[in-house]
Amino acid sequence: MNEIKAPKGTRDIFSPEIQKWQFLENSIHAYYQKFLYREIRTPIFEHSELFSRGIGSETDVVQKEMYTFSDKAGRSLTLRPENTASVVRAVIENNLFESVTPLRFYYLGPMFRYDKPQKGRYRQFQQFGIEVFADESPQVDAEVIFSAVDFLKNLKIADIKLEINSVGCPQCRPGYLEILRKAARAEQSGLCADCQRKISANPLRIFDCKLPECAETAKRFPLLGNHLCSECRDHFKIVREALSWMNVPFLLNPRLVRGLDYYTKTAFEVTSGQLGAQNALLGGGRYNNLIKELGGPDMAAIGFAAGMERIILHLRHLTLPRPKIMFVAYQDPKWLPNAIQLAQVLRAHGCPVYLDYQGKNLKKQFKKADKVAAAFTMVLAEDEIKSEAVSIKDMASQDQIKISLKDLNSWLKKNY
Ligand code: AMP
Repeated sequence: MNEIKAPKGTRDIFSPEIQKWQFLENSIHAYYQKFLYREIRTPIFEHSELFSRGIGSETDVVQKEMYTFSDKAGRSLTLRPENTASVVRAVIENNLFESVTPLRFYYLGPMFRYDKPQKGRYRQFQQFGIEVFADESPQVDAEVIFSAVDFLKNLKIADIKLEINSVGCPQCRPGYLEILRKAARAEQSGLCADCQRKISANPLRIFDCKLPECAETAKRFPLLGNHLCSECRDHFKIVREALSWMNVPFLLNPRLVRGLDYYTKTAFEVTSGQLGAQNALLGGGRYNNLIKELGGPDMAAIGFAAGMERIILHLRHLTLPRPKIMFVAYQDPKWLPNAIQLAQVLRAHGCPVYLDYQGKNLKKQFKKADKVAAAFTMVLAEDEIKSEAVSIKDMASQDQIKISLKDLNSWLKKNY
């Protein structure tokens, strides 16, 4: 029979890499709870319309990358390609505006995009992200950006670059888009067919094109930064000032528009010099109109999403403390019940414990203890059982001591 492989663009994660994932996930929970973010978990699939309306029908994600299917009742459903639209939907649907203060959420989980798989780019990949609602202050933009950079720094990720821009708002962007259209039409021959189509549909998306000739042509296009309304200009000025107060170095990138349509005002991206072609670690920005667009109140919002696989690639050299495994060995199968009870006591105390139910003799069990990399082996033999004691062998030093079961607690306190 043919062997069944995992689908293209997906991967299995197991030990020892899985320990890094658990470490990263724990770090996210601990870090963002310090800023009063609360975790939110939304479904893996949603009505397709949520993404076409939320992300923008002209984006690459919606045009080319969604996993969309019909269920048995003929509904069009899509595996989530990102999570902001889902979080907004969940906040509106559950009326969390009323019950959660402050309105700050973080999430982590798998996303799905029909992308071309390569190192750091998958079809099922994990993101974590944060979303802040109902706060228009530019300082909150700076705090969100600070947290992203600080989180990565705490993980000892070096060589990171933060780029920021303002992508305007519904007051100033339409005027700029007309100017951009004119410029793009004049240079149409320097753009790929896809970008030529974007001129009338959504010319900002031309800046997302990865083709060198399009990027070269787009260098000559007028910049949004020179066409911002005074509100967007002032907002962006305070964001930059606040970033300086927070000691966050940044670069201004006037061509940073981000691949999703919902952004307004601040947009940002963090890249890493160590990742090669797939160098984006995270990206985000303000999306002050999305909540209203998806049927909620007129409410400001900002957030970012980070690629967890790419962060994991940076944790190559991370060494995590090895668990102190306890192996419980018994000299004769008749002592197995005692061994089982001892293992229960040890686990209740918090020790990771393994015992071999098939343990034929002590020699074989000690071999197994080496295989599971046990730090200690507790031995129950005739002598120990009779004297209500246990022998403990330190597997590294090979030292062995015998203690009374009465003293077990104090030994555990000292060693665990
Ligand atoms: P986006 O939602 O496109 O703004 O992406 C946010 C972050 O998710 C990026 O900076 C990447 O780190 C990560 N990311 C996006 N697409 C993929 C993918 N196909 N595979 C792995 N990571 C991805």
